[in-house]
Amino acid sequence: MSLKDCNAIITGSTSGIGLAYARALAEEGVNVLINGLGKPADIEQERTRIETEFGIKAIYSPADMTRPDQIKDMIDQAVSELGGLDILINNAGVQFVSPIEEFPVEKWDQIIAINLSAAFHAIRAAAPVMKKAGWGRIISTASAHSLVASPFKAAYVAAKHGLAGLTKTAALELATHKITVNCISPGYVWTPLVEHQIPDTMKARGLTREQVINDVLLDSQPTKQFVTAEQVAAIAVFLCSDAAVQITGANISVDGGWTAE
Ligand code: NAD
Repeated sequence: MSLKDCNAIITGSTSGIGLAYARALAEEGVNVLINGLGKPADIEQERTRIETEFGIKAIYSPADMTRPDQIKDMIDQAVSELGGLDILINNAGVQFVSPIEEFPVEKWDQIIAINLSAAFHAIRAAAPVMKKAGWGRIISTASAHSLVASPFKAAYVAAKHGLAGLTKTAALELATHKITVNCISPGYVWTPLVEHQIPDTMKARGLTREQVINDVLLDSQPTKQFVTAEQVAAIAVFLCSDAAVQITGANISVDGGWTAE
């Protein structure tokens, strides 16, 4: 089956990996609902750029991933404005770096809400739509931190391990409905999320910017290179293809060898 005229939601797609997913799916002829924070003028510019460049329909939802009611509205918006929902990519995510005993409680709650609970609320609302259509693809951006831990990232590591577990459970429940559920676990991808954690990591570990990049981030990746957002998006396109129909409940690493160690 060609992906042309399929309809997709990509949460957190105003930047980084999410934007790369939206562009890669649009290139395959998929209509996309983009979502995320940012300046309205910048988001509108990106939305129209995707529409014009790929000749598909692109709409925007401002749904806040900490709000279950807004997540449900986003699913309903895709169904009413795009005409259906075939592909759901749970990608929105935030990070905060701090020793556990000083970890702000509100940061813990925010990270669990955006990086984990939002995927539950979205899958919960999307599954009936996909079951009715008899086809679906659900993909979540987990992380190498869904498989291994790093110090000072208690909430992120907990949320991503949870997301990998949620993926397996949803995959089992939806396996007979032609709906696959998988997660992709990147190592370090050079995006605003990584750039923004550098100052906090400098502070938490007493290092310079260069030391954080080379000795902390790239130290984890045997290839000594950042993953690109486009490489992550290409895996999502493959997971949406017919060739991937028997891949479900999987956690696919794209981490330069990080979790092989
Ligand atoms: P990014 O900061 O570029 O993008 C994050 C996206 O989430 C943005 O569109 C932002 O607006 C959106 N977002 C944040 N809070 C939101 C909220 N409350 N409601 C709706 N949208 C919200 O970061 P990225 O690196 O592209 O991260 C995307 C995903 O990839 C995240 O889940 C992240 O954990 C995961 N990831 C990133 C890396 C990496 O190295 N960059 C590695 C592994 C996993």
